[in-house]
Amino acid sequence: MDKIYNYLCGVAGKDNVSLEEDMSRHVTFRAGGKAKYFVQPENSLQLSEILRYLKNNSVKYYIIGNGSNLLVKDEGFDGVIIKIGNKFGTIEIDTEKKQIYCGAGVMLSKIASIACEYAFTGMEFAAGIPGMVGGAIAMNAGAYGGEIKDIVDKVWLIDENCNEVCLNCSEMEFGYRTSIVQKKDYIVIAVSLNFENGDKSDILAKMNELLNARKEKQPLEYPSAGSTFKRPEGYFAGKLIMDAGLRGFSVGGAKVSEKHCGFVINAGNATASEIIELMDKVADIVYDKFGVKLEPEVKII
Ligand SMILES: Cc1cc2nc3c(=O)[nH]c(=O)nc-3n(C[C@H](O)[C@H](O)[C@H](O)COP(=O)(O)OP(=O)(O)OC[C@H]3O[C@@H](n4cnc5c(N)ncnc54)[C@H](O)[C@@H]3O)c2cc1C
Repeated sequence: MDKIYNYLCGVAGKDNVSLEEDMSRHVTFRAGGKAKYFVQPENSLQLSEILRYLKNNSVKYYIIGNGSNLLVKDEGFDGVIIKIGNKFGTIEIDTEKKQIYCGAGVMLSKIASIACEYAFTGMEFAAGIPGMVGGAIAMNAGAYGGEIKDIVDKVWLIDENCNEVCLNCSEMEFGYRTSIVQKKDYIVIAVSLNFENGDKSDILAKMNELLNARKEKQPLEYPSAGSTFKRPEGYFAGKLIMDAGLRGFSVGGAKVSEKHCGFVINAGNATASEIIELMDKVADIVYDKFGVKLEPEVKII
């Protein structure tokens, strides 16, 4: 029997481990290959134990949250995909400190609506980002002038030695769509977020306004990973792609959205290879026309 599979089952339980897991089920692009091993640890102790074993045995691994910024190549991932999902779902509200403490597997939309319930303002910008807290911290997710770094108090992580550490916001090295998590391969397990007291109806109105703006401008009716490319300094990726005449440009089932050129969408049974080929072609054409390099925001595994 497979040694790694047996080990993972022994630590996380058989129900939380699978072989040859179809990763298109775990990414919002709804495309891509399989993970040789897939595990969802139930807590940080299991997580550290698994990480120690994988590191000691030189087994490749990759951490995922809600998969809203990810694509696994069609040939698959020959290692262990570790999902920090709803098992890391603790939520605690401290009304005196105006803080919410939550596990890395809580969806941003859920925290935003709890914050609204408690009339906590500061997170309205994130209500429509379809990621989990861990992914948002790793990516320093942001929208409409806000970024998660603006409200982070502390982050609990597993470090390179598989130990639990707690960092203050100032130690997180947040930058545009990056943080220490990506630089050092840390793993987010929980976070505490700071809020201000606000007015519940104003908070709700702001969230609805931003959600409606997304619905109007973004192709939410198709699978995608949001903005495909990072914003190049001084430009907007979507505008460059549109100006290059690439609106609706497609490779197989992968297509540049007609509604928002910054989004590559899965318009119907796209493979990961088609999505990647389209991204490469778009980047090449934009570079040839405008001399601007488009860098993917989407992580390709
Ligand atoms: C329709 C749509 C709209 C979007 N709009 C926005 C937007 O407005 N702004 C924005 O910033 N993003 C946006 N995104 C992209 C995406 O939702 C964010 O980047 C989100 O923060 C990713 O979270 P996730 O849980 O899905 O992470 P995943 O996609 O699972 O992972 C993304 C990265 O984070 C790492 N990661 C995930 N969890 C952890 C963890 N616990 N510890 C360490 N590393 C981890 C992964 O290794 C990977 O490198 C959008 C996506 C879609 C599909």
